[in-house]
Amino acid sequence: MTDLPLEPWQWPEETWRAKVNRVRAGRNLKPKTWPNGARCAVALSFDVDHETNELRDGGKSVGRLSWGQYGNRVGMPRILSLLAKEDIQASFFVPAVTALLYPDEQRRVIAEGHEIGLHGWIHEVNTAVPPANERELHLRSADTLEKVTGVRPVGMRTPSWDFSEVTLAIERELGLLYDSSLFADDDPYELIDKGEATGMVELPVEWIRDDAVYFNMNRFQALRPYTAPETVFDIFRREFDGAYEDGGLFLLTMHPHIITYRSRIWILEKLIAHAKAKGDVWFASHAEIARYVKAQAAL
Ligand SMILES: [Zn+2]
Repeated sequence: MTDLPLEPWQWPEETWRAKVNRVRAGRNLKPKTWPNGARCAVALSFDVDHETNELRDGGKSVGRLSWGQYGNRVGMPRILSLLAKEDIQASFFVPAVTALLYPDEQRRVIAEGHEIGLHGWIHEVNTAVPPANERELHLRSADTLEKVTGVRPVGMRTPSWDFSEVTLAIERELGLLYDSSLFADDDPYELIDKGEATGMVELPVEWIRDDAVYFNMNRFQALRPYTAPETVFDIFRREFDGAYEDGGLFLLTMHPHIITYRSRIWILEKLIAHAKAKGDVWFASHAEIARYVKAQAAL
């Protein structure tokens, strides 16, 4: 007879302490000043999921797959031309399967001066994948993105921001500069791995700074777009204004198949105009920001 696993309320102190201490936020890396005397940094990111959201769930729905194709046909061209017009460099987190489906799209992203980061193999949920498989998928994804684009990624955003107990160890093995999947601060911080300072930068995310939360739609669940575009703009603008006030980081996550519709793309345009009107804001890729804060902190 084997012992049943303990319920959380039965755990001894060392069990819950060990879980909490597995990955922690260490030093706050908000710099005293940003480049060229800028008051705050703006990191725009696009998670290029395309068809992988549906493939990850089994890939049975042709309708949902076509939604992913919208991201390639309409979404990405709209985003890339806006960024070119505004002369802004951004970061694109790309599942390896997306890069294999659309290699020309990803080569264009690199050719136009943007960054490509890791975003899983097929948008798998890391906590549902056995550790050995998770490691192999991240390693294969890094090789695939490098093969397609010619550039080795230096950062990772885990699919669905789902971060397992072994994810950080794999990121360290890959020698990544930064992660952008965790939530422990508004501003960049150093990742601590079971009490050990890693020298790796976390550029934290939040669901409130994610377009999918407000606009995503699943016909077969109770999930409906329920937030008006004006309200979403207001939330994003307040997040930016707070970052500007604090001299910190404003990091926004968007998706090509969500933010680019004719009734929504103005949110991003108006947000960029609002930030630019301040006159002293640094728009940069995640990798540039991570490199800068790491150098300032002399990690
Ligand atoms: Zn994603």
